[in-house]
Amino acid sequence: MTEHELSLTGKSINEMSAEDAERITDEVAYAKRMLDILSLIPGSLEEYLSDRQGFLDRHGIRLCREDIDFLCCPKDPDEKLAIISDNNRISEMPESFFRYRQFIGNKIAIRDLMTKKLCDPDNINMKKWRARQIRRCDGVLGGLNESFVHTVVTYELAEGCSVGCKFCGLSAGPLKKVFFHTPENSRLFKDVLKSCHKILGDAAGYGMMYFATEPLDNPDYEKFEDDFYEEFHTVPQITTAAADRDIERTRYFITEISKGRGFIHRFTIRSLEMAEKILESFTPRELVMVELLPQFPEAPAFVPYVKAGRETEESGIQKADGDPGTICCVDGFCISFPDKRFKLISPARADERFPKGIYESEWVEFENGADFEEKLLRYITDELELDIPDGKVLKMYDHFTLGEHNGKKCIISRFGEAIPLKEPYMVRIAELVKEGVHDRREIVDISVYEKLARPENAYWYLNRLWDAGCIAEKIFE
Ligand code: SF4
Repeated sequence: MTEHELSLTGKSINEMSAEDAERITDEVAYAKRMLDILSLIPGSLEEYLSDRQGFLDRHGIRLCREDIDFLCCPKDPDEKLAIISDNNRISEMPESFFRYRQFIGNKIAIRDLMTKKLCDPDNINMKKWRARQIRRCDGVLGGLNESFVHTVVTYELAEGCSVGCKFCGLSAGPLKKVFFHTPENSRLFKDVLKSCHKILGDAAGYGMMYFATEPLDNPDYEKFEDDFYEEFHTVPQITTAAADRDIERTRYFITEISKGRGFIHRFTIRSLEMAEKILESFTPRELVMVELLPQFPEAPAFVPYVKAGRETEESGIQKADGDPGTICCVDGFCISFPDKRFKLISPARADERFPKGIYESEWVEFENGADFEEKLLRYITDELELDIPDGKVLKMYDHFTLGEHNGKKCIISRFGEAIPLKEPYMVRIAELVKEGVHDRREIVDISVYEKLARPENAYWYLNRLWDAGCIAEKIFE
């Protein structure tokens, strides 16, 4: 980095000259384009290595070869690691690499902010329920849970999906209905959004306008997006597998994002042909805020499909521990507009009982906005299990065992989480829950009788285990 580039490292893009901001934005876009090509196009790294400048010229990547080498094929990977691990060696990184890394760091920070704050609902029951589901998912999904934001609501504008991806983790059926933007439908949509906003708070504005649907199947999606923006002053994130269907329509959505009306979109890339079309049709700057997901096996960065939904139907339930077994990132309500109904959903690891990797309640039908609001509130008040049930035998989820981690007693999930048991009474209570034959009162009585805990400690710790998602609840039994 030059002295001038170094002097900018502590500044945000808004605190620098237009010229610097422009250069840095380009650097990030070109670095991202290079990585997108390498992740999508088979043989692209070899092609680059055999003719570096020719490759960069052909793909319009205006970064020098030294920058690209440092980014994706450093001569000495250990030295690169040493540079990026040492804050005093920032000047040895190319500015493009430093800024791209910062860009990814910011995206991760925003993702974490969504999980911890932005998607956290105002409604106290929903807040408590969602917090426990997030902790439960730490146990059942392991570290992979960090990539799930646990949004509290999602809105479907169609029933079924026209794309029919063979890897669909939600087993979406064929497209059956589309919710068009008629005056009546727009009224219902706005009323439901308003109710969600009133009940759940701003978190309702971080939901998506799709679930087991393809957003671009709805020709009026843009109009609903405007209604959504009117209510929440943001546009929802889109994940689409049909970004190549109508390039100019897709360009509209990414332009909206670049105007700051939203944050990010994701394109599922189904084939090499689609990858080439997307890379040709959009400039690196246009795709800065669009993640391209390689979902075809020839892609160098292809990751085997999540074993849920269609994949479990095809190949049966497989318990691969490196796979979360779900693609559901919603802990809350899925609202279907074509059918005027909603259901509670929550991630699970795909198994015989939850082949899609999702808990789904029965649907609740509604007539209009007022009816929706009343039924949603009633559901939240009456149906969510918030506290440890009285008089019911408590069981620990099967994926937990009691053991030792780093020489300390713990509850250990076979998917990676370890919850330390710091006191002997905690160990005993965990053992009693794991036995799966006692109710809460009996567990407290036993630990008091054995002189391990005072009743208030025992009750307190059972509640902690409940909040930590260790004790099986009715919807997952
Ligand atoms: S993954 Fe998405 S686009 Fe593909 S079939 Fe499923 S819902 Fe449709």
